[in-house]
Amino acid sequence: MASKRDYYEILGVEREASADEIKKAYRKLALKHHPDKNQGDGDSEEKFKEINEAYSVLCDEEKRAAYDRFGHEGMGAFASGGGGGFGFSDIFSDFFGDIFSQPNKKTRRRKGEDLRYGVRIKFEESLFGVSKQIKYNRYETCSSCEGTGAKKGTKRAACPVCKGTGEIRQQQGFFSISRTCYKCNGEGEIIENPCPVCKGEGRVIKERKLDIKIPAGIDDGNRLKVSGEGSSGLFGGPNGDLYVDITVEPHSVFKRQGNDIYVSMPVSFSQAALGCEIEAPTVDGKSTLKILPGTQSGTQFTLRGKGAPRLNGGARGNEYISVVVETPTNLTPKQKRLFEELAAENKEETHPLKKSFMDKIKSFI
Ligand SMILES: [Zn+2]
Ligand SMILES: [Zn+2]
Repeated sequence: MASKRDYYEILGVEREASADEIKKAYRKLALKHHPDKNQGDGDSEEKFKEINEAYSVLCDEEKRAAYDRFGHEGMGAFASGGGGGFGFSDIFSDFFGDIFSQPNKKTRRRKGEDLRYGVRIKFEESLFGVSKQIKYNRYETCSSCEGTGAKKGTKRAACPVCKGTGEIRQQQGFFSISRTCYKCNGEGEIIENPCPVCKGEGRVIKERKLDIKIPAGIDDGNRLKVSGEGSSGLFGGPNGDLYVDITVEPHSVFKRQGNDIYVSMPVSFSQAALGCEIEAPTVDGKSTLKILPGTQSGTQFTLRGKGAPRLNGGARGNEYISVVVETPTNLTPKQKRLFEELAAENKEETHPLKKSFMDKIKSFI
């Protein structure tokens, strides 16, 4: 303790210096030796501690008086110095908040709002991709005041209540309580002459027209993120993002599940019995399908690679075609007669499924 330097000497001020002069001197020195500015410099760190210790005493009337009378020894009555056990962090944030971490700017600088927009597209568009122009309203930086909120030619001024810190501090014994400044809402600045265009908001609502590319393979319920197309940020903050919710209109023939497409394909009684070639629909156009004689209802055909494209690339899904054998209705008298003739010709061998089923249930009836 004996080798301790004089506090006034450390801060480079006269013994008669006013509180303001001490504050100024401290601020200047602390800025110069702040660890953030002198990283890895042990000397600077020591100096910074010393400066803070000196200031923690000289800024406090009671302590300063004790120091003036008794020197370093007089400090024993107070909590030990060592960089100022008491009040150090308070002093620190009080002074450096706005200089180093700039909390005022931080609170003012805000990201713009994210926005959502719903887009309805056709089934085919979802498969092969489409460009859509959308129109929506968003906040954009006011061009008249360039986002400052202050009338053109005027500036924002430091808040007179909190002196630009954005908060109001109250000392209660050893504790200090801080609250957000009521005058400036913690922004540290006020607008004396608000911009007439944006009424001081710094932003105005504007219609935005945007071409968005909807990628091939997008599915119902998917959401696209368009970075930076949300509302403009406040006071230099980044723009919000635009989220586009995709609704795909259902198709009358194709049903999509994952990347596969399902189709129910009706074939006639005789086509299924005799066999035939049919034109099956695919999203790429028609595809010929060979129906073998005796094809049953529910038989499924797979068309590889005829499904939906994958959003992240890679092979397309498949198309699955289920055959539905349609029982004829509204028969003409001639058709009816032919069916009756056919029925007379029906044998067990022509309907093996039916025979086997009847055999199985025989014991029950
Ligand atoms: Zn404006
Ligand atoms: Zn204020």
